[in-house]
Amino acid sequence: TFQRPWHKHYPPEVPVSLEYDNRPLHDYLKASAEVYGKKKALYFMGKELTYEELYDQAQSLASYLQSLGLEKGDRVSIMLPNCPQSVIAYYGVLMAGGIVVQTNPLYMERELEYQLNDSGTKMIICLDVLYPKAANVKPDTSLEHIIVTGIKDYLPFPKNKIYPFIQKRQYQVLVKPEQSTDTHLWTHMLKTSSGDVKPVEIDPLEDLALLQYTGGTTGFPKGVMLTHYNLVVNTQMSKKWLYKCKDGEETVLAILPFFHVYGMTSVMNLSVMMGNRMVLMPKFEPEDVLKVIEKQRPTLFPGAPTIYIALLNHPDLKKYDLSSIEACISGSAPLPVEVQERFEEVTGGKLVEGYGLTETSPVTHSNFVWGQRVSGSIGVPWPDTDAKIFKMETDEESDHGEIGEIVVKGPQVMRGYWNKPEETAQVLSEDGWFRTGDMGYMNEDGYFYIVDRKKDMIIAGGYNIYPREVEEVLYEHSEIQEAVIVGVPDPYRGETVKAFIVKKQGSDITEDELNEYCRKNMAAFKVPRLYEFRNELPKTAVGKILRRTLIEEEKQKYEES
Ligand code: AMP
Repeated sequence: TFQRPWHKHYPPEVPVSLEYDNRPLHDYLKASAEVYGKKKALYFMGKELTYEELYDQAQSLASYLQSLGLEKGDRVSIMLPNCPQSVIAYYGVLMAGGIVVQTNPLYMERELEYQLNDSGTKMIICLDVLYPKAANVKPDTSLEHIIVTGIKDYLPFPKNKIYPFIQKRQYQVLVKPEQSTDTHLWTHMLKTSSGDVKPVEIDPLEDLALLQYTGGTTGFPKGVMLTHYNLVVNTQMSKKWLYKCKDGEETVLAILPFFHVYGMTSVMNLSVMMGNRMVLMPKFEPEDVLKVIEKQRPTLFPGAPTIYIALLNHPDLKKYDLSSIEACISGSAPLPVEVQERFEEVTGGKLVEGYGLTETSPVTHSNFVWGQRVSGSIGVPWPDTDAKIFKMETDEESDHGEIGEIVVKGPQVMRGYWNKPEETAQVLSEDGWFRTGDMGYMNEDGYFYIVDRKKDMIIAGGYNIYPREVEEVLYEHSEIQEAVIVGVPDPYRGETVKAFIVKKQGSDITEDELNEYCRKNMAAFKVPRLYEFRNELPKTAVGKILRRTLIEEEKQKYEES
């Protein structure tokens, strides 16, 4: 093992290098079913499933998929929000020897068609309300089979009063597929499957478990190839990081969607590996989340900054008891220090910032939950994970404290982009260093800081402006709920700085007042020249603000003017 400045901060409970299991990811569900069979694995709006039931149903699906002709290495898309089927489908596909392709349920037909063709997906498991999309694109793709399931498959007696965050329309099967040769109902699958799964030989180091299409906040979506080993090691690292948590005893709030790598590894795979109980939430509604926390008493709550911010700003926050929460890791976007402090005050638990990407399964860095942590920093590299800063556009390591591109190396780094050797070569070196595209630096103590994404940096009048730095200042203002800074085209400065702001409820702050505030708190060249107030900002499924969407809107406006 290598030695790095951050290793000295590791608490005795977390070794800098771990021993990893060389076994397929789905083995952990089997193991948990054996050890925790009668324990609850899932809670979904009042309905619960034990580990035994979860495992049995995953086996039924695996056997059914094999009977439809699924062979080792075939791709199967899962297009579901968090619900029992999303967990069953994931493990079922892996048990059958397939590769999971996670599909965002919000995809429009064009996006779905692109993904299915790019990945060469043969089968899709989708929600009933999404069936029309799948059926419409089927003739133009490699799809052979569609398996349809509905919320009603697990909650047969819907009452809007009980499940307030599901709209009535979602209970109605819009299309009732006849039992045909290429369309299959989930309930039929469960009833008729023999449950006998033909054993498939998996080499965890080589065989892919997942094609995960990247966020889509930048560029064209690419399929990230993650092996069983990539996912197993990242899950084992998480488990070690959360060393105070006890196997079989934690309850995890599953609000991050499993179709994003962060929810998939840090919530679903970790829970299954530990034999924890997952509280599944298909949709983020702050009030429902507060209610569920009070009633279901989760101890772990992985999330993203916008999720914590929305909860903290809920007018009835004080009415709810959130004291069950012990540990939260926030990822996917910068966590404002003020949010971290307030959330810890309100819950009495820990909230620490971590960092990662789809290409790294996802976690590479985080602060210690119970050890030393540094607010505003993404923390230190995880066990067996190395990290450096490269000077921009070079392969040379930069000096201490200098800003450059963060590069990482470790057993969680992807095999590459599916069918895209050139794109892979651009980011992944032969000796395993992955260029993250994020700019940052390391302090003398070995703690890492993100300055911004390479692509997000604004160059205005020759000055480099990092949106994140300006956003931090805005978030410190007591009347601002959310803020995002983008560069917009400007005939004189090349680009100029624009702020999109969501005010806190009841605030009537004006543009002039904000401008005054910014001028007092940052260098003049960073001060936004334009402000726009909005009721909400466009976001991805994990709550990351879609800066690109705003930039595109601005570009279009500029071109039309
Ligand atoms: P994705 O592949 O969708 O998970 O997005 C990965 C990107 O999210 C990274 O390249 C970062 O730009 C961003 N990101 C993740 N965690 C953080 C964090 N703690 N602070 C700032 N940006 C982050």
